[in-house]
Amino acid sequence: MPELAPIVINSHEFVRGRRVIEGAVALLRLSRLSDVLLDLDGNLAVRLEGWQDADRISWLRLEVYGQVALCCQRCLGRMEWPLSIVSLLQVVGPDETWPDEDLADDGADVIAAENELDVLALVEDEVLLVLPIAARHQQCESPLATEKVDGSSPFMALAVLRKH
Ligand SMILES: [Zn+2]
Repeated sequence: MPELAPIVINSHEFVRGRRVIEGAVALLRLSRLSDVLLDLDGNLAVRLEGWQDADRISWLRLEVYGQVALCCQRCLGRMEWPLSIVSLLQVVGPDETWPDEDLADDGADVIAAENELDVLALVEDEVLLVLPIAARHQQCESPLATEKVDGSSPFMALAVLRKH
């Protein structure tokens, strides 16, 4: 998949022109994710589409697919986390009234129109929103808990041995 381009768009022109961009974004380029991910290997597949509806409301639809590596907060092991994000964003220009988000029932987020909208920042925002605060495997043991079991009683130690 070719790299996503351009990564900076004029949101007004993008929406009016009903434009679509799609391509790969290397995780390395999403610097804010480096704090939460185990590594920045690999790419995300990104698609961004813009249009104006019959009420002249501007919309962006952002799709992000891929897989990232998180650190399990219990065993500190690697945890693959699949991403499948479809996000609807209402783009509000400087002359338009900001919609009351409490009243919106379509689940859309609202962003300000920008001449130089950073698409990668948008992708980062959406990915950070869906990542768990403390990721844990469904089944795993903390290294500390295992040590305790080993030392607690011969019976427990046997149970641990049998598992291997
Ligand atoms: Zn774990």
